Amino acid sequence: MIKAVVGANWGDEGKGKITDMLAEKADIVVRFQGGANAGHTIVNKYGKFALHTLPSGVFYDHITSVIGNGVALNIPILFDEIKNLTDRNVPMPKIMISDRCQIVMPYHILLDAYEEERLAGKSYGSTKSGIAPFYSDKYAKIGFQVSELFDEDTLKEKVAKVTAMKNVLMEHLYHKPLINADELLETLHTYREMVEPYVADVSSFLYEANKAGKTILLEGQLGTLKDPDHGIYPMVTSSSTLAAYGAIGAGLPPYDIKQVITVCKAYSSAVGAGAFVSEIFGDEADELRRRGGDGGEYGATTGRPRRMGWFDCVASKYGCRLQGTTDVAFTVLDVLGYLDEIPVCTAYEIDGEITTDFPVTYKLEKAKPVIEKLPGWKCDIRGIKNYDELPENCRNYIEFVEKHIGYKITMVSNGPSRDDIIYR
Ligand code: GDP
Repeated sequence: MIKAVVGANWGDEGKGKITDMLAEKADIVVRFQGGANAGHTIVNKYGKFALHTLPSGVFYDHITSVIGNGVALNIPILFDEIKNLTDRNVPMPKIMISDRCQIVMPYHILLDAYEEERLAGKSYGSTKSGIAPFYSDKYAKIGFQVSELFDEDTLKEKVAKVTAMKNVLMEHLYHKPLINADELLETLHTYREMVEPYVADVSSFLYEANKAGKTILLEGQLGTLKDPDHGIYPMVTSSSTLAAYGAIGAGLPPYDIKQVITVCKAYSSAVGAGAFVSEIFGDEADELRRRGGDGGEYGATTGRPRRMGWFDCVASKYGCRLQGTTDVAFTVLDVLGYLDEIPVCTAYEIDGEITTDFPVTYKLEKAKPVIEKLPGWKCDIRGIKNYDELPENCRNYIEFVEKHIGYKITMVSNGPSRDDIIYR
C-alpha cells in the first residue's frame, strides 16, 4: 500500500506531524522531491526536532527511511541531521539513499546566494540552499548523480568540465572567487565515503516492498502552491510538490499510490515572496503568528517569521484538487481557540468578478479576498479524541471548510504530538 502525504498550500501545513503519526503503522517513509530548503517540525518522546532532509519516519526503529532519486541531496546537511538525532538518544535510523539521487554541490549554494544578492530587492525569497541552481543543473544535464561518485574517471572529467563552466559565472557575472577543481574533487571523495554504506537501487527496493505488502509513505515537501507548474510561478520551488511526482521521485508506478492525504492548515501561513490573498498584517497577524504551530510560525530552516493569513478556501480547493486528494488532514485547529470570530476567505474578487477558481499569477496578484466570519469556540480543544466532543462552533468551522474545498476531512489535528488526532 502506497500513501502520499502532501501539502495543499504554501508548505508548513503540518505534514511532518502527520507523516510521523502515520509512520507508526508503516514500513518505509520516502522523501521524493525538494531538499534541505524547508523543514518539518516533529514533537515526540525524544523531544522537538527540525528535519530538513531526513524523512519524518526516522524516529521509529521499524522504519526504513529513504531518500528518493527526486531529492536534492545535501550530503553534509544529511549527516549533520543524523548526528543531531543520535546525539539526542534517537537510535541510528535505517537509511537508504537512491543511487540516482543528485547531489547539491557547494557551488549551488554559493550561486544561490550570489544570485539573491544580484537580484537584491527583486529576489524570489530563496532560502539560499542551492535548490534552484541544483535543479537547473539537473535538467541541463550537468548535475552529479550519486552513482557517479563511484566512477572515478568520469567524475574527474566532469568536475573539470563543470568547474570551467561555473567559473565563467563566478568571474564575470558575480565577481566572486573561482572554484578550484582539485578541491571540489576532494570534497566529492569525502561525500563518496559518507554515503557509500547507504547507497542502493531504491526503486527496485520499493517495488519489491510494495509487492510484499509493505506500507510505504511518500512524504512531500512544501505544497501545491509552490509547485513549479501548478503553483504561483515564479514564486515557487524548483521541484514538483505534487503527489503525482511521488511516482517519479521514488521510482514507483503512478497507479500504486492508493491514498493521497493532503494536509491543510486551519489558517494560512507562507514564506517567501508572492501573492497571498488572505494575508493579514499588524497586531492581528502577530498574534496568530505567536500562537501558531507549536511555538510560533517561524521557518523551521531559516527561522524567518512566516507571513500569516486566514484560511483560504479558493487556494485550498485548488491545492487539494491538484494533489488528487483522497483524504484531507486538517491541522493546527487548536490554535484558533482564542478568536471570537474566525474570518475565512471563501472567494476572490478579481476585476470586479467573484470567483472560487484559483487563477494564474498575474490575476492572483489582483485578487481581493471575499471574507466570511464564523463564530469561534473560545476554548482549548487539545486532548479531545472524538469528533462529537468538539465544540459545536468548531465542528461547524470544519464542516464549512470541507464544503467549500469539496474534499473529505478525515483527520483533525488538535495539537503537535503524534496522538493529538481526531479521526472522522
Ligand atoms: P510541515 O513542513 O508541513 O511538516 O510543517 P511544519 O512542521 O513546518 O509546521 C507545522 C508546525 O505546526 C510545527 O511546529 C508542528 O509541530 C506544528 N503542528 C502540527 N500539527 C499541529 C496541531 O495540530 N496543532 C498545533 N498547535 N501545532 C501543530
